[in-house]
Amino acid sequence: MIQSNTFDVVILGSGIAGLSAADELLDRGLSCVIIDSKNPGNGATSAPMLLANPATGRRAKRTWRAEECFRQISDFLERVEASTGALCYENNGVLRPALTKEVAKDFERSPEKYKWQKEWITWFPEVEFSRLYPYFGKNYGGLQIEHSLSINGPEFIQAALTYLSKKGLKLIQRSDYTFTQISGQWIFTIKNRESVSSKRVIDTSGKAQIDSNHWKFLPLHAVKGQTATFHFDEPLPLSHSVSSLGYMAYTSALPNQLTVGSTYEHTFEDLEPTPDGLQRLKSKLRDTLPDFANKIKVTEQWANVRVTVPDKMPVVGQHPEFPGLYIIGALGSKGMMMGRYAAYCLAESIFSRNKTDLEISVERFL
Ligand SMILES: Cc1cc2nc3c(=O)[nH]c(=O)nc-3n(C[C@H](O)[C@H](O)[C@H](O)COP(=O)(O)OP(=O)(O)OC[C@H]3O[C@@H](n4cnc5c(N)ncnc54)[C@H](O)[C@@H]3O)c2cc1C
Repeated sequence: MIQSNTFDVVILGSGIAGLSAADELLDRGLSCVIIDSKNPGNGATSAPMLLANPATGRRAKRTWRAEECFRQISDFLERVEASTGALCYENNGVLRPALTKEVAKDFERSPEKYKWQKEWITWFPEVEFSRLYPYFGKNYGGLQIEHSLSINGPEFIQAALTYLSKKGLKLIQRSDYTFTQISGQWIFTIKNRESVSSKRVIDTSGKAQIDSNHWKFLPLHAVKGQTATFHFDEPLPLSHSVSSLGYMAYTSALPNQLTVGSTYEHTFEDLEPTPDGLQRLKSKLRDTLPDFANKIKVTEQWANVRVTVPDKMPVVGQHPEFPGLYIIGALGSKGMMMGRYAAYCLAESIFSRNKTDLEISVERFL
């Protein structure tokens, strides 16, 4: 039970980055508090379904440190489920049908080119892929990626908070606050309530980092995306999720449902889902899984942004001018894959003095 209002670390935000940071720090025996100015489900991590997919982009490139990232997020999810009994994810792999000949050439090269471990990825030529997965429309073969997670965002956030609170996390939510640094100590004054302090603050506030005066030197920008969840009268004959034109997330826990998502709007006025967005997602479904597209009922539309930098890698590390202020941000479209490992890297740099890889470090922008 935490009684003191002084913590080893204050974490701002409770998306995948903040929850991962709390998990890592509590495991190291450190006390921490998450302050979320809104609801924990307010950020991008609360997408109805997300994939932790190690083979992304039109070339099915193996993502950065794929094996380590995958091990860390799988382990976190496993512990969350074991502790709470929640069902928030499935390791059901992902299929990547090649819808054009050019994409097929790139996909076929992926297993060798990106040096995948053998059991992770298999290329199937057209005839075999169609025999195995007859529900895809015209395709030129496809990839089967053995390890990919389909994650229910809202379930995960709630279950992770329950799990972390059992480990000693304090959560302060829906609270405006001000903060200042005095003699090396960060003091947070929560509106009309307590104050908390710490020598270290980790900012994981997602899109709020773009407007923060502290992080102006980082080239962060937001890309809006939308999801639509479709309900089907019959259970779908799928086993895997799908990634082709955007993603189509499926789990056997909800066999009558598919969530289709894509992030693509570089200029936008608000974060509301739109009729155009829905049409776009419906047409992605139609082009990938034509047999399913006529039988759908839309049950949910959702929109938010992913925050990214030009090299599309996360940003992890300490502020160059404010000692004790750290960031985990720019998780882009791979937050579920990389967020937990990014938190481990940051903790290693703070507490074990192991330098963060330049590929994800704040230092690459200095
Ligand atoms: C449509 C769409 C689909 C996506 N699909 C996938 C996918 O399939 N796989 C994948 O890996 N990624 C996907 N992403 C990206 C993924 O959602 C993000 O990479 C990830 O959720 C970012 O996590 P985060 O913890 O950095 O931020 P967030 O999840 O946005 O969390 C930020 C938290 O900070 C809080 N906050 C805001 N302001 C403040 C403040 N001033 N002080 C304190 N707290 C604050 C918010 O309330 C929120 O809880 C998708 C994104 C979108 C938009």
